[in-house]
Amino acid sequence: MTDRLYYHDAALLDFDATVIEYGNDALHVVLDRTAFYPTSGGQPHDIGHLGNSRVVDVIDEGARIVHVVDAPVGLGPVHGHVDGARRRDHMQQHTAQHLLSALASDRFGWDTVSVHFGPTHSTIEFDVAAAPEQNLIALQRAANDVVAQARPVLVSFEDAAAAEAAGLRKPPARTGLIRVISIADIDRSACGGTHVTRTSEIGPMLLLGMEKIRTHVRMGFLAGDRVLAHARENGAALDALALEMECAVTELTTLVPAKHREIKALREQLATLEAEVAVSRVRAMFDAIGPSDDGVRRIVYRPDAESPSIVRQMAQAVAPLERAVFAAVTQTPPTIYFATSADSALHAGATLKAALGTVGGRGGGSERVAQGTAPSADALEQAARTVVYGDRP
Ligand SMILES: [Zn+2]
Repeated sequence: MTDRLYYHDAALLDFDATVIEYGNDALHVVLDRTAFYPTSGGQPHDIGHLGNSRVVDVIDEGARIVHVVDAPVGLGPVHGHVDGARRRDHMQQHTAQHLLSALASDRFGWDTVSVHFGPTHSTIEFDVAAAPEQNLIALQRAANDVVAQARPVLVSFEDAAAAEAAGLRKPPARTGLIRVISIADIDRSACGGTHVTRTSEIGPMLLLGMEKIRTHVRMGFLAGDRVLAHARENGAALDALALEMECAVTELTTLVPAKHREIKALREQLATLEAEVAVSRVRAMFDAIGPSDDGVRRIVYRPDAESPSIVRQMAQAVAPLERAVFAAVTQTPPTIYFATSADSALHAGATLKAALGTVGGRGGGSERVAQGTAPSADALEQAARTVVYGDRP
């Protein structure tokens, strides 16, 4: 049976104990007493050290608590040290949750269904279908008022029936002796977790908004040091954005949407211009090149760098020309485009697919426009020659 030191003193981080059992090559250790909190009630376990071994997990097995360590710990005396930063964080989040659950119930009749303490934020699920914004603002203000009042948070051990008679937020889940956490004149809840001793130690509280889940809502929140870290990170992100946008942080909410609209309009303008450029380029190439003795104009285009959309539109501009075939080869990405005029009687998709098949490439398309790729620049070039010149020398 492990004596749970954290039940009586959540601030205790250093303790001496005796290893009374071990298993799994001495990587699972049971002590006669421990300040390590095991994962339970939605609260994650503590981390820290037993001797020189790191405690990486703490498991609640009812009568005993198992410490999972990264290096063997033998029987006998050992010094334990609980990581203070993680413990303090959990105490802040957990006590904040008691306070928020109590205030939400008393003020709005929202009862807590479940709680979760996550690595980035914590959540409380309330048994209501909707939570208006003004209630959240009121809840946040009320909770921060109680923090400022520095009310005592007390731990007591009481008989379950007597405790319920004296008033508990929820009926106790067990009989016999239970542990009760009281926030003076605000809340009495049965709980086995670690909590601060005064509400002022919770620090600031920030509600993160509501998410609908089935018929309930789930509210995210941050407490204590997490609020400060959140404010600092968000502030830094906004400063960086403002610097990039060359404006003040307060102007971001109007400037960013305005820039988005501007970019959208410019993209539409660019697309129109690209289409015009594509048509006139192909027309100019068509005019510059004379027909072969079979009357077909054969255009091959090898741009050094060109936007794929403009090359694609050039290919699409070939269909209305008179007796023409067009191939474009680009290197980044390695692509071949092939297009035929409507009067050419040449199926672009089938022709390109066959040509690429002989050089280890793949591709295809419609009767007029096709596109594909091949494993090398030489292979692409060979495919281009095949589709444009066929068997001609
Ligand atoms: Zn608790």
